[in-house]
Amino acid sequence: MSELAKFEYAPAPESRAVVDIRSSYGLFIGGEFVESAGGGSFKTVNPATEEVLADITAGTTEDVDRAVRAARTAYQGVWGRLSGADRGKYLFRIARILQERAREFSVLETIDNGKPIKESRDVDIPLAAAHFFYHAGWADKLEHAGLTGGGGATPRPLGVVGQIIPWNFPMLMLAWKIAPALACGNTVVLKPAETTPLTALLFAEVCQQADLPPGVVNIITGAGATGQALTEHPDVDKLAFTGSTEVGKAIARTISGTRKKATLELGGKAANIVFDDAPIEQAVEGIVNGIFFNQGHVCCAGSRLLVQESVHDEVVAKLKRRLTTVRVGDPLDKNTDLGAINSAAQLRQIRELSAVGEAEGAVRWSPPCDLPGQGFWFPPTVFTNVAQSHRIAQEEVFGPVLSVLTFRTPQEAVAKANNTPYGLSAGVWTDKGSRILWMADQLRAGVVWANTFNKFDPTSPFGGYKESGYGREGGRHGLEAYVTTGAGR
Ligand code: NDP
Repeated sequence: MSELAKFEYAPAPESRAVVDIRSSYGLFIGGEFVESAGGGSFKTVNPATEEVLADITAGTTEDVDRAVRAARTAYQGVWGRLSGADRGKYLFRIARILQERAREFSVLETIDNGKPIKESRDVDIPLAAAHFFYHAGWADKLEHAGLTGGGGATPRPLGVVGQIIPWNFPMLMLAWKIAPALACGNTVVLKPAETTPLTALLFAEVCQQADLPPGVVNIITGAGATGQALTEHPDVDKLAFTGSTEVGKAIARTISGTRKKATLELGGKAANIVFDDAPIEQAVEGIVNGIFFNQGHVCCAGSRLLVQESVHDEVVAKLKRRLTTVRVGDPLDKNTDLGAINSAAQLRQIRELSAVGEAEGAVRWSPPCDLPGQGFWFPPTVFTNVAQSHRIAQEEVFGPVLSVLTFRTPQEAVAKANNTPYGLSAGVWTDKGSRILWMADQLRAGVVWANTFNKFDPTSPFGGYKESGYGREGGRHGLEAYVTTGAGR
């Protein structure tokens, strides 16, 4: 055991006194919190402790209809008529409020999601604010964004947008969805995930604080059925979805033959490819960041490590040594690297697929670590001897589980990396610039990181090939999904 691994950290808990969680929440429709028209409720829990945090309203079809009508009224009466410069002012205001209340949002995100406070504090919430700042800048410049195909037509909003987001980056996905929609002049009905509704409900308060006209943003909590009602609503002009490939396909089927547009950001099984000339220590950090960031609950996670055969043993040895220093535990502790698994259901899926990995002949390894007795936990796990046919090499585990495979030549690395129904992201670690460019050209992935991994920026478009979905979010390209150059409505 190394000296580093023996190093003890004193607890450094972030205070949860900055958040004020109500015992129950209504739906946010037309600028205020309202009761459901008859729906039940469900509980959201802290996955690190299983403590019940609040009662959340399960929105019904009728509630969804009310929200869509509020969004339509706001679109026709106010937001669709506002100048880009004025829309930009609201977005700037929201961005500033998010920065001012960043600590509150970070703590609430960590309590409801289970992710380490250092990630919500340093990644999720700053990036969410950055998305609002970035899109505030676009609001009055859409005519200059090259969105009209050179035809000189003015880009117009689509109307009412339905947005359905997952639980892995609740606030960040909200920002990815709402900021471009509003910048382009659309109004929104957003459904957060069942297990992580609290930051979206806090964002509703931010909309009030920013004096956003009522109905421009509506937040409807609920389970899959609520999302489905939003998908099926006839007065929704566009759907934006991030989540599982299975639900994404169901949404595509539901809206086929309708006028609804859609962007779908679905699953991934990214290859993180390490060549023998790579800076190995740096690559090991990139591997850890690639799969253990956010407990591996990341659609673009580097879940398949492809290592050149000649450095396999060295990389695996250094990776294992590094993993003995990863601190798993209380997500509110500022020293924690790996927090709680988001839900009992997700923990079950990770356990099941890991058991299949072992049964199929891969070799399983985890560092010694004490997991808390209460809550949903899974240790960082590495599978070696993985074959391409193994389910852990094919399917999205969506947890802190890495599959290690090998290759001999760049051609073999490309063939193995592309041997997946997904195509969201990839990583390449090598000293050779020419090889990076060649690999980026060959890899069928929406994002290719070179000598880094999991880098996000609002200016950079993100999206997939194949079953990872269609459309792009972020950057100039992301605006395209929220405008039309036709007559609009
Ligand atoms: P889902 O795709 O079910 O959830 C994503 C969002 O869609 C949630 O808001 C969910 O609501 C909603 N939803 C569920 N069913 C429907 C429906 N029929 N129509 C419209 N909306 C619906 O993902 P899960 O949370 O069930 O996770 C399952 C697996 O999906 C994970 O194990 C992981 O592999 C993958 N996943 C991938 C993500 C990604 O970013 N690519 C993100 C999350 C999961 P509710 O939360 O209430 O069910």
